[in-house]
Amino acid sequence: MFLTISTTGTPERPATDLGYLLHKHPDRAQTFSTSHGTAHVVYPEASVERCTAALLLEVDPVALVRRGKGKGRGGAPDAALAQYVNDRPYAASSLLAVALSTVFKSALRGVCAALPERAESPLPLRIEVPAVPARGGAELVGKLFGPLGWTSVDAQPVALDEQFPQWGDSRYVQLVLEGELRLADALRQLYVLLPVLDDAKHYWVAPDEVDKLLRAGEGWLAEHPEQKLITSRYLARRWSLTRQAMERLELVRLAEADDIEVEAIDNAVEEIPAESDESPKKEPSLADQRREAILRALRDAGASTVLDLGCGQGQLVQALLKDVRFTHIVGVDVSVRALTIASRRLKLDRMSERQAARVTLTQGALTYTDKRLKGYDAAVLSEVVEHLDLPRLPALEYAVFGTARPRTVIVTTPNVEYNVRWETLPAGHVRHGDHRFEWTREEFRAWAEQVGVRHGYGVAYVPVGPDDPEVGPPTQMAVFTDNTTKEGKTA
Ligand code: SAH
Repeated sequence: MFLTISTTGTPERPATDLGYLLHKHPDRAQTFSTSHGTAHVVYPEASVERCTAALLLEVDPVALVRRGKGKGRGGAPDAALAQYVNDRPYAASSLLAVALSTVFKSALRGVCAALPERAESPLPLRIEVPAVPARGGAELVGKLFGPLGWTSVDAQPVALDEQFPQWGDSRYVQLVLEGELRLADALRQLYVLLPVLDDAKHYWVAPDEVDKLLRAGEGWLAEHPEQKLITSRYLARRWSLTRQAMERLELVRLAEADDIEVEAIDNAVEEIPAESDESPKKEPSLADQRREAILRALRDAGASTVLDLGCGQGQLVQALLKDVRFTHIVGVDVSVRALTIASRRLKLDRMSERQAARVTLTQGALTYTDKRLKGYDAAVLSEVVEHLDLPRLPALEYAVFGTARPRTVIVTTPNVEYNVRWETLPAGHVRHGDHRFEWTREEFRAWAEQVGVRHGYGVAYVPVGPDDPEVGPPTQMAVFTDNTTKEGKTA
């Protein structure tokens, strides 16, 4: 197994800096023992203009078989034989990935004490792997490396036998990547994607592989269009691990999007007069009116335990705490920042024990079912659904109405028809940069009706804010009530 990394340079930025970045001196051939054999690092070329490091892994097939069978001595003899004649010794695969991570550990982490600034910046790179087993062929190689910033991704199918072209191609490709990337990013991509391409299920996937995947995937995996395939193959199609990884990636993605979101909220807050405004004549803000409408609906429903899903900075949780009929309140949000602000607002650290026992703030993604959300009287989704991409909405619907199943669910969302009444809103614009959509009253009702039918909830609609005869109210609210429990369906 063989992989080369090349870069070019100038007298000011010599190519031989690669030696520092990889923590391997260009003048010396070095040997390392890894769990599957011996790895060698040599530099076929090391000049100011051009420098190439080669990683060669000599796999010990016998050791591989022994490892493959674990500690036990069993195993059918023919299976053992199959191990001897397999392609592991010369094909780049997960073993090469393991060797990469062992031999270039610091480089993978982007650590370089000697040249920290070089480690942080993109270099002209050319990476070549002569034989990559690729289930999915050159096309999949393009899909995997294509979105990762390379200027050229080339995967040439390797013929089964050059003497006999009529035999067609083997399942190997010759991979060449060219572009300007940070070395650590390039290595971390290879560490994940080589085994993904190989898709062999020969090594044990321990639960800490999820951590390894997320660490190596930092900065690129959360946004990768083939994220699901990558995650599932990397984790050897173990569904529970794949799900775990996907959920955590979703948290990363949402948290990143949310940083922009919270910033937007912060900016917007500056323009709104302070909440503790002393003049009592002042019209309550739309947010206040919304909160009041939600509290009223919760009281009418007789709810004591309440989930505030997408609680943001905790204003509703704060209002709920002031009313003792609400015995337990759980605020859930994907954004750690919002939760931190919420906990400060509530002064959680200074709360009496009894009061603190009534409230929980927790991080979670609402598009994933969550056992912790079962068994509550009511759930509130206040100005949350419009923050999800429409295709993600069924997942939230299933998690809330299908799995958590509180007796009452309250959903509020902007009524887009009302936008013409906002003087400051340019025509055709949504109210907030992060809103993925805003619904008309008809669209909202069509959605709510469907949800009710699919999950056995009746729906009532309540206008929030001035109900304009032409365009309706600024906020629309739906109150869902479970109608399956009353009709004798035991839980
Ligand atoms: N409910 C609050 C905040 C609304 S802003 C209010 O009415 O004022 C929308 C909130 O939903 C944000 O805090 C955002 O972090 C959160 N959110 C968006 N998508 C989410 C998801 N998939 N899972 C959990 N929270 C999400």
